[in-house]
Amino acid sequence: MSIQWFPGHMAKARRQVEEKLKLVDIVFELLDARLPLSSRNPMIDDLVKHKPRLLLLTKCDLADERGNKAWLDFFHSQGMSALPVDAKTGKGVGQIQPASEKLLQPLFATREKKGIRSRQVRAMVLGIPNVGKSSLINRLAKRTAAVTGDRPGVTKAQQWIRIGKTMELLDTPGILWPKFDDSEVGLRLAASGAIKEEILPLEEVALYAVNYLSDRYPQFLAERYKLKDLSLSGVGLLTEIGKKRGCLQKGGEINFEKVAEILLNDLRSGRIGKVTMEMPGDWHSDGGVEADG
Ligand code: GDP
Repeated sequence: MSIQWFPGHMAKARRQVEEKLKLVDIVFELLDARLPLSSRNPMIDDLVKHKPRLLLLTKCDLADERGNKAWLDFFHSQGMSALPVDAKTGKGVGQIQPASEKLLQPLFATREKKGIRSRQVRAMVLGIPNVGKSSLINRLAKRTAAVTGDRPGVTKAQQWIRIGKTMELLDTPGILWPKFDDSEVGLRLAASGAIKEEILPLEEVALYAVNYLSDRYPQFLAERYKLKDLSLSGVGLLTEIGKKRGCLQKGGEINFEKVAEILLNDLRSGRIGKVTMEMPGDWHSDGGVEADG
C-alpha cells in the first residue's frame, strides 16, 4: 500500500499519531535498516518528544552486516536505543521486550515513588509506509497471540495485543510520511520500494541505484549480471545489463524500462545481495544528505 501525502493527509496523520501517543508509555520507531535516516519521518522528534523510544531497524536481513553495525553504532553514539529486526524470520524480535524494560526504568522509578508497583506498560509502533509495521505487529502477536479486547473511553476503541507478561501493544500502528525535501532521499526511498513508483520515473530511480551499486557494491553487479566492464557509467551499465537480460525493443534498442524493473526488483528483494543504501557518513550533521562529489 502506498499513500500520496498531501498537507491535509499529513495533518490528519499527525493528529492520529498524537491521539495514539497519549495512550502509550513507549514508542517503537521503525526505520528501514537499509536507509535509516531517509526512512525517518522529519517531525518524529517533535512528535514523540520525551517518551521512551526504541528504534527498530527493520528488514535488517536485506541490509549489509557492516551497514547494520555502523548504523547501530551511530544511533548508540547519539544516546538512542536501537535494535536490528527481521520481521520475516522473527530475528531480533525477542530482544524488543528486554530492551523496552531497560528504557522504561525511569518510568518504573517514578511509579514506585508514587506507590505504584505495576510494571504494566503500553506500546505502539510508528513509522512511514512499507517500513514493516504490520509485519512486526503480526510477528509480535504470533509470539503470544491474545488480543486484550476493546478499551472504551478513548475516541475510538483500541485493540491491544499482549506481549509477554507486562506489555500491551496497540494493534494499529501510527503512520507518518517520509521526508520529501531532499531529492536524494526521494531516490533512496524509491529505490528501496518505500515510495510509489509513479512519483519518480522508474528509469531515474534505476540510474541512481546502478550508480550507487557500482560505487559501493560493484561485485554484486558483476556477479548478478555477469558484467565484465565495471568502469562503465550509469547508462552504460544499464545498457550492459539490458543486453545480458535480453531487454531489447524492436530494432535492437535497449528497453530501459524493462532493465529498470529487473534491477530494482533484484535490489528490493535482496537477490542482488545485501545492500545498505546509505551510511552514517553520507549525512551532514545538519540532517541533509551529502551530495555525491
Ligand atoms: P507497513 O506498511 O509499515 O505496515 O509495512 P508491511 O509490514 O506491510 O511491510 C512492507 C513489505 O516489507 C512487505 O512486503 C513485507 O513482507 C516486507 N517486510 C516487512 N518486514 C520485513 C523484514 O524484516 N524483512 C524483509 N525482508 N521484508 C520485510
